[in-house]
Amino acid sequence: MITMKNVHKTYSNGVTAVNGINVEIDRGEFVYIVGPSGAGKSTFIRLIYREEKPTKGEIMIKGIKTAEMKNRDVPLLRRDIGVVFQDFKLLPKLTVYENVAFALEVIEEVPDKIRERVMEVLDLVGLKNKARSIPDELSGGEQQRVAIARAIANRPNIVIADEPTGNLDPDTSWTIMRILEEINARGTTVIMATHSQEIVNTIKKRVIAIENGIIVRDEDRGDYGYEI
Ligand code: ADP
Ligand code: ADP
Repeated sequence: MITMKNVHKTYSNGVTAVNGINVEIDRGEFVYIVGPSGAGKSTFIRLIYREEKPTKGEIMIKGIKTAEMKNRDVPLLRRDIGVVFQDFKLLPKLTVYENVAFALEVIEEVPDKIRERVMEVLDLVGLKNKARSIPDELSGGEQQRVAIARAIANRPNIVIADEPTGNLDPDTSWTIMRILEEINARGTTVIMATHSQEIVNTIKKRVIAIENGIIVRDEDRGDYGYEI
C-alpha cells in the first residue's frame, strides 16, 4: 500500500527532518508512529499524503510513485487518504453535516449520495444527532469524531492521524481509538502518530519508532518504549 525507499526530506531552512527511511506498510495494517518531539514523525506523515515532497528517495502509494504524479492527480491521491489532525481543523462556520458534506461536494458526488453518506459516517462516529450543530457547540472529543467522519467520507484506503488524541482527555481518547479500530477492522489502513504510552501499550499494534529522521525500531505488537 505504502512503500518508502531511502526517503530524505530536508526543508528549505536546511533542517533534515527525514534522513533515509525505508518502510513498507501493507493494506489493512494499523501502525503507530512514535518518537521524541522533533524526530520527524509529522514530516513522515506529510510525505505520505504529499503535503511535502521528498528531497531524495522514492515514495509509492498503491504502486504509484508520488513524485511522478501530475499536480492534477494529487486530489485523486488525497481522496484515497483521509487525514485527521490533533487540532481537528473543522470549518467553524459550517454545521457538522456541512463539514462532512464538504469533503464529498469537492469530489462532485451527487446530492442524494452525499446526504446518505454523510448520515452514514455520522452514525458510525455516533454523532447523527449533532448534524445541525456547529463545531463550537461540541466537546473536543465530538469535534474529533466529526473530523474522523469527514476523513472517511470518501471511503479512503488509508487514514492518517497525527496525534488525534493529543488534545483529548483519557476517556475521550479511548472513544476515538475505538472508532479508529473499527475503521481499521473494515479494511482501512490506519497510520497514527502518537505520544500516548497508555494507548500504544494497551491496544497492541505495529510500532514504528522514529528518531533523528530514521526508523530505529519496527515491531509487531510493540511497546511505546519511551519514558514519559
Ligand atoms: P515530530 O512530528 O516528530 O515532532 P517534525 O517532522 O515536526 O517532527 O519535525 C522534524 C524536524 O523538522 C524538526 O527539527 C522541525 O523543527 C523541522 N521542521 C518540521 N517542519 C518544518 C518546516 N515546515 N520547515 C522547516 N523545518 C521543519
Ligand atoms: P432523521 O430522519 O432522523 O431526521 P436524517 O438522516 O434525515 O434523519 O437527518 C438527521 C439530521 O441531519 C437532521 O438534523 C437533519 O436535519 C440533518 N440533515 C439532513 N440532511 C441535511 C442537509 N442537507 N443539510 C443540513 N442538515 C441536514
